[in-house]
Amino acid sequence: MDAAPTPRSTPLPQVHGYTPDGFIAAARELVPRGFGAARDLYKQVVLEGRCEPESLGLSAEACAHYRAAFRFELPSVAHTVSEEGDTGTTAKAVLRLEDGYEVECVLIPMGRDKHTLCVSSQVGCKMGCTFCETARMGLLRHLRPDEIVGQLLVARHVLGWDFKNVVFMGMGEALDNPSLFHVLRLLNDPSGMSIAQECLTVCTVGSVDGINSLRDAGFTRLNLSVSLNSADDSTRSRIMPVNRKHALAELQAALVAYRPRRNFALGVNYCLMPGLNDSREDAARVAAFCAPIARTLVNVIPYNPGNAPLTRAPSEDEVDAFIGWLREEGLAVRRRVTKGRSVMAACGQLGNVELRRGKSLPVTR
Ligand code: SF4
Repeated sequence: MDAAPTPRSTPLPQVHGYTPDGFIAAARELVPRGFGAARDLYKQVVLEGRCEPESLGLSAEACAHYRAAFRFELPSVAHTVSEEGDTGTTAKAVLRLEDGYEVECVLIPMGRDKHTLCVSSQVGCKMGCTFCETARMGLLRHLRPDEIVGQLLVARHVLGWDFKNVVFMGMGEALDNPSLFHVLRLLNDPSGMSIAQECLTVCTVGSVDGINSLRDAGFTRLNLSVSLNSADDSTRSRIMPVNRKHALAELQAALVAYRPRRNFALGVNYCLMPGLNDSREDAARVAAFCAPIARTLVNVIPYNPGNAPLTRAPSEDEVDAFIGWLREEGLAVRRRVTKGRSVMAACGQLGNVELRRGKSLPVTR
């Protein structure tokens, strides 16, 4: 008979931080009896949001070994807020991690009862975009795979949110997180969460190295979007410091080379900021930037003034005029409805600057 498992002092690995095959291999190594149930246990965790080896008909001894080798703990929900809009309810959840840091995920209505979950990849962010609340925190740390996957599991199984698509556009620069590719494989794995690559979108501020790595990683159906926000080097360098490292020509070259499939369309996100990037010339520059890229879809996002506004929100007329200019230039354009502004859940509004100072916030349910 195997010895009873002994307690460990270091935190156990989380089941939902593994890919299916990774968990099976780890169970083979760490669970002397009952490792044959690893695949079913993994599915129970990632598809049902529960971890109950007993329900799989395992012996008490095998269950004890699983519990001694792994854990299944999700971030706790610090609070949620929501806002009704024309296309449905936008909801933001602030999730508390085990070290006390908080990250945010947002449920975004996309119309016709469809929702997208926007998840965070880092606590804070080092990219320093001047229009972004998260930037004010600085980078505190990367999220672990189980903390990213945990956002999906909390959203679906704790909060009961229904979503099909996932976008890495919350707190942090996703391509800066070294675990991102592991997480994408984990989410996409047909033996586990089985989220189609078409339903996953990585959003980058323009990390050229990250885009090149993504190109080489073999994801052919994955969506990619880039936050452009200005196609003028001096303006972009002013509002997005990443441009000082990788200027527009370098970013453009990386995006031209990124074509994982013939019908791939790059999302080009453009946060419209009055007086900064909303002129007729700005629209022409966007068109020139997009011209050599095979297919693009420009998403115009009206600026959301946060706690330290850079400028005001554009008027409806200003947004319409800019979209009209882009269309005159021959671009495919979509206007993103600003969702969740009143609950600080809109683009560029995620983040909690108090965390940078190591302060814990009161829980407001
Ligand atoms: S916009 Fe994105 S990349 Fe830029 S600072 Fe904010 S979270 Fe980071």
